[in-house]
Order: sequence, then structure tokens, then C-alpha cells
Amino acid sequence: MANTLHHWINGAEVHGTSNCFGDVYNPAFGEVMSRVQLATAEEVNTAIAIAKAAFPAWAATPPLRRARVMFKYKELLEKHADEIVAAIATEHGKVKADAHGELIRGLEVVEFACGAPHLLKGEFADNVGTAVDSYSLRQPLGVVAGITPFNFPAMVPMWMFPLALVAGNTFILKPSERDPSTSLILARLLKEAGLPDGVFNVVQGDKVAVDAILAHPDIQAVSFVGSTPIAQYIYATGTANGKRVQALGGAKNHMVVMPDADLDQAVDALMGAAYGSAGERCMAISVAVAVGDAVADALVDKLAPKVRALKIGSWDSAADVEMGPLVTREHKNKVIGYIDAGVAEGAELVVDGRSHVVAGGESGFFLGGSLFDDVSTDMKIYQEEIFGPVLCVVRVDSYNEAVRITNEHAYGNGTAIFTRDGDTARDFVARIQVGMVGVNVPIPVPMAFMSFGGWKASLFGDHHAYGAEGIRFYTRLKTVTARWPQSIRSGAEFVMPTMK
Ligand code: NAD
Repeated sequence: MANTLHHWINGAEVHGTSNCFGDVYNPAFGEVMSRVQLATAEEVNTAIAIAKAAFPAWAATPPLRRARVMFKYKELLEKHADEIVAAIATEHGKVKADAHGELIRGLEVVEFACGAPHLLKGEFADNVGTAVDSYSLRQPLGVVAGITPFNFPAMVPMWMFPLALVAGNTFILKPSERDPSTSLILARLLKEAGLPDGVFNVVQGDKVAVDAILAHPDIQAVSFVGSTPIAQYIYATGTANGKRVQALGGAKNHMVVMPDADLDQAVDALMGAAYGSAGERCMAISVAVAVGDAVADALVDKLAPKVRALKIGSWDSAADVEMGPLVTREHKNKVIGYIDAGVAEGAELVVDGRSHVVAGGESGFFLGGSLFDDVSTDMKIYQEEIFGPVLCVVRVDSYNEAVRITNEHAYGNGTAIFTRDGDTARDFVARIQVGMVGVNVPIPVPMAFMSFGGWKASLFGDHHAYGAEGIRFYTRLKTVTARWPQSIRSGAEFVMPTMK
């Protein structure tokens, strides 16, 4: 019998009572490694009741002391990095460097959260009227929830809970059922860092658990990261139930390559951005927009041999593996379906990764890298998110056309332009309808002290994730106007009690 993964409630691992389980695979070998217990609505309700009971004491804990838990947590995450990296890579399949990279990006949000006393400071205005002062407070919301995707089992939860917790909220995490182990390590280390029991809880589960969270009146806010159809559903349902919601969705990120770009630099950038983590990144570049045929021809000529030479394998097989398997057999088949569709629609498949075999990983969910040329904007492979190691080259005649197609795409998560011309770069930054923009930077993920978020179908809600936006999302503003008239002071003088 495979190992079973459970919930984390009130500071301990808790076995659920449901008879529903999800299989958790090692995608490099295509084997079930463990099963995860999927929560019932009653189990979610229990976790929420525990988080609600833990809220008053945690909310009353001074921000400085809440921040000290995060200082300790940072130390523990660093100490246990190998364990976390192994959990991510084994269940997700990404290579060690990518797993470590995601941990570091999450850790940086923990570091940012250590500044809680400063981040939570309000404003003060002296003497706004005669003997009247005004000041603002940022107060926690209560119990808040995070619902996260498979592709970053450490980083995306850490976009959420460090800031939610230091702001004084208590938290329910519903991680992806594809790679649930990391969430339990994150929970265990929070307890070791001194977080009181009940303040952070993990419920494993699927749609049943998500719907219980969305329906519960004690959940004040929901942070979601995942695919666009589910993000839309979470936003519509959560807000209809009176909750504050930020729901980050899918992507189709374009990288524009101008005729004056350093092509070798652009090619290296595309290799990492399109094929890193097997393309299972919401900031992956999946469309290269080549301005002019000369650029397109050179780009494809330089890319093709590199895509064929990608070193593919299991994360623990060799130190220099560049790309791992896809997360599940279903997802691999879905990506193959997109490649088939691209061929049927008339795009030129320059490199075909469909039948790539990894020695020793024949049952694993591996695909080789694929490269399409001559992709047009009416094709399914252009319009939809593939979320796999597939790069589409679209040829355009002018810079303005590159801007137009990027702006007309339904998604608006990330984009980049490669150029040596400052004026073009500035114009691109000003006109592009996308939330995160890179100039000669292919994956412009904002640092922890900035904020992360796309536009259009890539984000539903008003707040981006982490940074100052994260603090705003997890707090409620209260403004106090106080008057202390002179008559009170003269009528109620303070008299020191006499010492006996
Ligand atoms: P997903 O939408 O399938 O799942 C995300 C979460 O929603 C999981 O916890 C899952 O259990 C839950 N869920 C799935 N189906 C549901 C349903 N019908 N009702 C309620 N809840 C449901 O996404 P995924 O496949 O895990 O992750 C990949 C997607 O996430 C891609 O589209 C990717 O672009 C996106 N993503 C976006 C960002 C971003 O910042 N915009 C970051 C990472 C991933």
C-alpha cells in the first residue's frame, strides 16, 4: 500500500475520514508513489473553526513577535532546503536547479515578511482640525485561504501565507493534489519556528475542499493561483459570497525579438524561458514574435539544434539535466494533442518532441522540446495555453504588429522585448497591455518587495500577489479621527497616587 499523505490541522498531521484519495506520481518513472487523502466539506469546516479560534490571540500578538517567527522560519527553510527540493522534484518532476530556484523565490517573500512592523505601519495626520488628529491602522481580516497550483508547490503558497500571517490572519492552505508533500514540510517548519497551533492549517483536497472554502462564511479572503477557467470560477463564487478574492490565472507570454536585438542573447533567453521546468511555468515564454523574416530565419536556425540537444531526464539522474518530465500522463497527452493540432493547422513543426524517449524513464511522462515556425494568430496553439515544452514562432512585418498581436491576446501575464534601442523599449513598456514586462529579460518575475500579477485573463481581482499589494490584500484599513478637547484635560488632571 502506497504511503498516505494527510492534512495539517492545529499544529499536527491529521488523518482524514474520507474514503477519497488522489494518486501522487513520480512523473520521472510514471509510478504512483503515495496517495493523498482528499478532504470532505466537514473536514474543511473543522479546519476553519480551528483557524477561527486561533485568530484573536494571533491578531493581538505584536507584529514584531509575528515577524520573529518568520526570521526563524527563514533559517529553517534554508536548513531543510535539500528535503524541500527533493519533495518538489520527486512529485513535480522539475530539475534540481529549478526546484531550488522556486524555494529561493518563496524564501524571499519570507524575508520581506520579516519587515512586518514597518509594513503594517499606518499614517498619522496631526491637528486635522482644532484638537483633532487622524490616523490609520491596517488590521487583519480573520481566516484567509490559499488555493495553489501544481507547478510551484513551495513558491506559490509562499507568495501568500508569509504576508497573511505576519499581518495577523490565520490561514488555510489547499495545495494541489498532484504534489502535496511540500505543503506538509512547510507546515511542520512553521510550527518549529514557533507559530502557535491552529494559525496555519493545510487541507488536502480537490474541488470538494475548494467549494467548502468558497462557501464558508468565516473565510474572509481567498488567494488563488491556477488555470484561467478555475480562476474565473473562484473569483465569481468567492466574491458572490462576499469574500475578498485575488485569482491569478493562465498565460501565453510573448517575447518580441527586434532586428537590432543581440540574437545569441535572445536565443539563450528563449531556451531557458520556453523549456525550463518543461514549460510548466506561468511566466514561460511560449510565443517568440520575430520582427522580419531575417530575424525569424536566424532565430529558428539557432534555436533548432539547441532544442534537439536539450538534456532531459529525472532530477536525480545526472547533475546537468536541463528538463524533467511533465507532471502527469494526462497532461503529457494534452500537450501532444496541441502539437498534433498545430501540425494539422499548418504550422511548421521544426523540432518534434512527441516521441522523445529517456533511457531508464520509458514509463515516465517525458516529452522532448518542440519548436513550431510559421504559427499564425488564428491557430489553437497560438490562442490557448499549452503549458508544456513547446515554443511557437510567429512572424510579423513590423514592431507595431508585434505590439498589436500581444495586446490582442486574451492573456496578459508576462512579456518581453529584446532590442538594443532604448526608444523602442520605452514605447513597448508604455503601450503593452501586460502586467509584467521584461526589457532584455525573458522572465520578468518581480522581486518579493515588488508585486506579481498579470492583466486581462491572467488575473481576476484588484490586488497583485506579495509585496506591498500582498500586505494590502491581507489587511483592512481603518481610519481613526480623535478629538481631545481642552475641557477634558483641565477637568481630569492626572494625580500621581502617593506611595505609602
Ligand atoms: P488548476 O487550475 O487545475 O488547479 C489549481 C487549483 O485549483 C488546485 O489546487 C486544484 O485542486 C484546484 N481546482 C482544480 N479544478 C478545480 C475545480 N473544478 N473547482 C475548484 N477547484 C479546482 O491549475 P494547475 O494545473 O494546478 O496549474 C497550472 C495552471 O496554473 C496554469 O494555467 C498556469 O498558467 C497557472 N499558474 C498561474 C500562475 C500565475 O501567477 N498567474 C502561477 C502558477 C500557475
